[in-house]
Amino acid sequence: MRLFSATIATETNTFSPLPTSIEAFKESVFLRPGEHPDDAPRMCTAPLFVARKRAAKDGFTLIEGSCFAASPAGKVNQADYEFMRDEVLAQLRAALPLDGVLFGLHGAMVAHGYDDVEGDLLERARAIVGAGVVIGVEHDPHCHMTLKRISNCDIMICYKEFPHTDVADRAEDLLDLVLRTLRGEIKPVMSLYDCRQIGSYPTTLPLMRGFVDRMFALEGRDGILSVSAIHCFPYADVPEMTSRILVVADGDKARADALATRLGEEFVSMRGKTMPQFLTPADGVKAAMDEPARADR
Ligand SMILES: [Zn+2]
Repeated sequence: MRLFSATIATETNTFSPLPTSIEAFKESVFLRPGEHPDDAPRMCTAPLFVARKRAAKDGFTLIEGSCFAASPAGKVNQADYEFMRDEVLAQLRAALPLDGVLFGLHGAMVAHGYDDVEGDLLERARAIVGAGVVIGVEHDPHCHMTLKRISNCDIMICYKEFPHTDVADRAEDLLDLVLRTLRGEIKPVMSLYDCRQIGSYPTTLPLMRGFVDRMFALEGRDGILSVSAIHCFPYADVPEMTSRILVVADGDKARADALATRLGEEFVSMRGKTMPQFLTPADGVKAAMDEPARADR
């Protein structure tokens, strides 16, 4: 069994005047095959990191592609995105024949000429590997979950926690589902519900904590393989900038549709109630001074 993995990632604020060039990637994550460190994932590289650790035990060969990631700023230069994309796609073509592909993508990257970078990459990857190869993708929930992406991959999973403490855990989930698909144990189908809203959803506050805990509880039973809440990335002027619910189910599209709709309606019902309480500067200072556990007491 042969799997390929690569990363192209950044989080683009399309309103920022700061261009993101290849230099920004070289300052952050610019790793060619075999160069990824063994100690921890780098930004969005968890799928490759996890697959490398599990290849021998789970009985597959990992073919490593390049990993490129940059800190958030403005749009990526067109030529620089195309350079990174074409390098990864050439590696993908050279790695054939393949059984599966694992992409670690942030999901909110925008380049000049490409509103949907990840959709472009996945569409081209699918054209290279064909319909029979299982494509699994990990995204940050602050992403633009476009229909083009969903129609060009088999399994999509987002981190559940914000702050993002579960990047590696969700990459493990992704690899599990890709391997189970390749072994013929499951047939993933995906459903998306469009919540048509923009918001901030920290999962440490009670409402979202409860929602995420229910998402976890739904997985692994009644044919539900994975549930993701797409928070959206609000600082982008792209057509499909919205919060969505994504459900991956085992073969039963109607079940996936029903659950995505139910959770999506629940998500919409929390509109405006998931934000932290923001204090004015004066109230913030007063609250700090009134705090009984002040360090200087
Ligand atoms: Zn994020």
